[in-house]
Amino acid sequence: MNKADYFRKRFYPDVSDEQWNDWHWQLSRRLTGEQELKRLFDLTHDEELALKQKDSFPFAITPYYASVVDGSPLRKTMFPDLKEKICSNGETDDPLGEEPCMVAPGLVHRYPDRVLFLTTKYCSCYCRYCTRSRLVGRHSSQTETIGLKASWEEAFKYIAKHTEVRDVLISGGDPLTLSDNTLDYLLCRLREIKHVEIIRIGSKVPAVLPMRITPDLLKIIQKYHPVFFSLHFTHPDEITPETAKACEDIANTGIPAGSQTVLLKDINDDPDTLKKLMHELLKHRVRPYYLFQCDPILGSMHFRVPVSRGIELINALRGYTSGYAVPTYAIDIPGGGGKIIINDQRYMGRDGDFILLKNFENKIYRYPDPI
Ligand SMILES: *Cc1c(COP(=O)(O)O)cnc(C)c1O
Repeated sequence: MNKADYFRKRFYPDVSDEQWNDWHWQLSRRLTGEQELKRLFDLTHDEELALKQKDSFPFAITPYYASVVDGSPLRKTMFPDLKEKICSNGETDDPLGEEPCMVAPGLVHRYPDRVLFLTTKYCSCYCRYCTRSRLVGRHSSQTETIGLKASWEEAFKYIAKHTEVRDVLISGGDPLTLSDNTLDYLLCRLREIKHVEIIRIGSKVPAVLPMRITPDLLKIIQKYHPVFFSLHFTHPDEITPETAKACEDIANTGIPAGSQTVLLKDINDDPDTLKKLMHELLKHRVRPYYLFQCDPILGSMHFRVPVSRGIELINALRGYTSGYAVPTYAIDIPGGGGKIIINDQRYMGRDGDFILLKNFENKIYRYPDPI
């Protein structure tokens, strides 16, 4: 029996396959407090204290994802930590400076031709390093969104008026926790806008609630192609048979899926773990897209890895594995600077009509490039 099946047999012995594989059941049984968590995990004294703290970023995890994080470094991405109360230099509650860029409720227009549309504050599980912890999870129920439907109107109106917007990135919160009907409505309204070429949905659902990827959901999304998914994966332990199936169903629906990974200390900050994650994703037709430096939200120091280490990790992938397996390493700059791509220096200067370039093995080559 694999680890997840054992976990389920032990803690949810009376739950049928049908219930376990029903995303509504998973959401209705989310673990949200110390007492519930204690039944399933041996909590350390510090974890208990952290769970009791008032005024913290909310805690929630689906039974499914609890079975995944059990015995995995992923546990630290979900369980509150006392270190979250330590505020370090440069940390803020809105590190990406999204609030000043809001052009309508939930709508961030930072780049010339695309917008970010925050459609809900709800997630099935809350990542402790969440860049939008100021926004998500607080008093939000699954049906309450940033102002469902009524306030989406302003965003639709803005996008319709701004003909330069050819790409709408739906995020939140996790938009795939919205009901089928609500998603159908949202996609339909965006598709009515002629200059919107592509729609992207940002979601962690395939990793934390893979049973949400139902045939009905995929049928709805298929109506509005081209739709892309930007998925969030952190560690190879997330690639379970359930998640693999969700990713393959997504690919078979013709939805190109990319993955965004946040670089996290002691969780995925070593070459073997990162490479394994990228390989597993490709096996299930998910293309690694971004590797993000962890944003400086309040109390996130214990998650952050030095940028120099991030460059080393990317260098350990580039050239040593398929180019498809190498995500782009990026820092989203506090104060609204946007994403900046971090690359190791490969251009080493010029020698007459030649430039000097460094390859993945750090050998220098001369390349003809007369001025
Ligand atoms: C990340 C982001 C996007 C999308 O950026 P891409 O590089 O195109 O994936 C768009 N708008 C905002 C505000 C973002 O933070």
